[in-house]
Amino acid sequence: MIRFASDLAAAQGGDGEIRAGGTDLQERRRMHGAAGPLVDLRDATDGRAIEVGADGRVRIGALVTIAELAADAGVRAGYPGLAQAAGGLATPQIRAVGTVGGNLLQHTRCWYYRAPEAECLKRGGSTCSARKGDHLWHACFDRGPCASVHASTLGMALLAYDARVAVLGASLATVAELYGDGRDATKHNLLPDGAVLSGVDLDAPRRGERSVYLRVISRARAEWPLVEVLVRLGVEADAVAWAKVAVGAVASVPLRLPHVEAALVGAPATPEAMLAIAALAREGTDPLPMTGYKVDLLEGAVADALERALVEQPVGGA
Ligand SMILES: Cc1cc2nc3c(=O)[nH]c(=O)nc-3n(C[C@H](O)[C@H](O)[C@H](O)COP(=O)(O)OP(=O)(O)OC[C@H]3O[C@@H](n4cnc5c(N)ncnc54)[C@H](O)[C@@H]3O)c2cc1C
Repeated sequence: MIRFASDLAAAQGGDGEIRAGGTDLQERRRMHGAAGPLVDLRDATDGRAIEVGADGRVRIGALVTIAELAADAGVRAGYPGLAQAAGGLATPQIRAVGTVGGNLLQHTRCWYYRAPEAECLKRGGSTCSARKGDHLWHACFDRGPCASVHASTLGMALLAYDARVAVLGASLATVAELYGDGRDATKHNLLPDGAVLSGVDLDAPRRGERSVYLRVISRARAEWPLVEVLVRLGVEADAVAWAKVAVGAVASVPLRLPHVEAALVGAPATPEAMLAIAALAREGTDPLPMTGYKVDLLEGAVADALERALVEQPVGGA
């Protein structure tokens, strides 16, 4: 039996890659992109619950599966955008096995990173093959020098919720800090080697908020998104009182769009206003030769999500 808070760090001793659901790690091992000893969380006894504190805050254990997160009644009621994101990603089979921790810490799906024979900055190479080669699914916010996008839907969603992380062995405090600005081409996240993510913390649900998760995808299911967005709106007296907008699959880390959020505050809660403000989602994009189409998808996805959010059932009822 392994307990996160005590035995796991000792069991690992900084040596060996953690395996949670294994859906990312096993594929990398099969493709010879990962090797060496494993620390298996299969038998861990904690980190498997979604717990609500006396103050209404919620702790999601790192080993909660994505399917459990999507189905949890409290998450669906208090954080509907997060539940939608969890229920919309990957496949039922992956969601049944993949964990919250593994989702946040999964490695990029860049096809050059996953092909051991290709040169890749994240595998210690001196150049980014995607930048010169096929980067159709890559960044349109080019943080450089790595052109890949981050794959974590839950990372994007939790960024919109200003979630905090519980980490053993490092002082990271928030999901935003877990990813940083994405400019270090060698990293998928800023969790130091040997550190363990034990859970994610959310503030108590905000009564009256409306949220929507939306993904643009190239086929009906079983695919990573081309663009994804989560919007949260507080609406009072027919105007937007506060807004959080996060986007994924567009940069080397999940992003918030602070200029869009700022423009939303005080705007009339009308489809026309949402459509006009969504155009600001283009600001700061600098697409690669093949990713210009993502800028149009991004604006459209943000517009669609904002418009849909206006008619969503508010948290806690009308
Ligand atoms: C067809 C398909 C479509 C997909 N679409 C999406 C999608 O749209 N959005 C999306 O987000 N994902 C998508 N995925 C990826 C899938 O969600 C991930 O593979 C899964 O979430 C990883 O979780 P896991 O528990 O299996 O991680 P693992 O494979 O066990 O681990 C992943 C990484 O995290 C590390 N790790 C795991 N847990 C911890 C911990 N507690 N502390 C420290 N390190 C840890 C591991 O060492 C490893 O490096 C898709 C996958 C497939 C096959």
